[in-house]
Amino acid sequence: MKLPDNKIKSFVENIQSQREKNVVIVPHVNPDGDAIGASMALYHYFSATNKCSVIAPSSSPEFLKWMPQSEIVLDYQENKESCEAIFSKADLIIIADHNAANRSGDLELLIANNSAIKLMIDHHPEPSYPVDYQISCTKVSSTAELVFNFINTINPQSFTIDIASAIYVGIMTDTGNFMHNVQPDTFKIVSQLIALNIDREQIYDKVFNNYSVDRMRLMGYALSKKMMILKDLGTAILYLDKNELEEFNYKIGDTEGFVNMPLAIKGINISILIMERDGVVKMSFRSKGAVAINTIAKKYFNGGGHMNAAGGMEPDLSVDQTLVKLIEILKQNANLLDELK
Ligand code: 5GP
Ligand code: MN
Repeated sequence: MKLPDNKIKSFVENIQSQREKNVVIVPHVNPDGDAIGASMALYHYFSATNKCSVIAPSSSPEFLKWMPQSEIVLDYQENKESCEAIFSKADLIIIADHNAANRSGDLELLIANNSAIKLMIDHHPEPSYPVDYQISCTKVSSTAELVFNFINTINPQSFTIDIASAIYVGIMTDTGNFMHNVQPDTFKIVSQLIALNIDREQIYDKVFNNYSVDRMRLMGYALSKKMMILKDLGTAILYLDKNELEEFNYKIGDTEGFVNMPLAIKGINISILIMERDGVVKMSFRSKGAVAINTIAKKYFNGGGHMNAAGGMEPDLSVDQTLVKLIEILKQNANLLDELK
């Protein structure tokens, strides 16, 4: 059921008036800046009145660990028992920045079997998560933007600098530093965040200028040695297997943003990253303009996402085999991709 704007205030005030109520916030598996930014903003907001936890299905990237109080984010993989104890006492579970149950990773069943009220706040198309209430809108830059509207609807006085900074992290990362998906309202919201004295330059620096030497060298290696260009298809494919990642001491988040880089090449409208992670092949898809790359992610690679930024996986093949499959699929769909250009 949609949670309409005029019901949000009473819904939340009902939770907040009962201080013993427990709120649990769940970002998606392999959380990104928007998932953690939105979750931390909600955490700062709810922890002022209620017991509140953030439980992530897997670990958060290093480049977000500077965020105030981000140490409260529990990685389910590392803290199964304590996370399960928290879930058993949950009154409200907020599903943040995802809209399909399998994107909750190993928390999927724990959430499905939980009797707490479930609220989803998300900006991806085609929501399918079975929840009691949803705030779902694809016309915003990010889930963080929805969290801004959510808190603003309840009480515009309750923004703190920590809430504002966390929302800024979500908007900044999901828009590629205000390059895609930006709406007029995005800038209106950002202007309000700036009025709250967030330190934009410092946030940018902490999120984007924090490469380890290994990460920088991995990027150089990927771009010089592991980038295939399919000129006729306007496509670049980066592909990295487990051994290569290990060689560069890969840590979660190290390949974040790599997939966007080939889009800077003239004539490249589609960029795809294939990499081996936790025993499966994960894929990131990016496109420019009218090329709806999420259709390929969904139809052939068990995934989905936005029109120009999607993800998927290939459970049965190696990186090299996935590369072969992908090239075949792109060739088959050349007309479609061409028409959309
Ligand atoms: P990324 O490439 O940064 O991992 O993901 C890009 C976008 O695709 C994000 O908006 C993310 O939510 C979505 N996405 C990534 N992986 C998957 C997936 O396996 N399934 C679906 N439905 N969406 C995904
Ligand atoms: Mn997002």
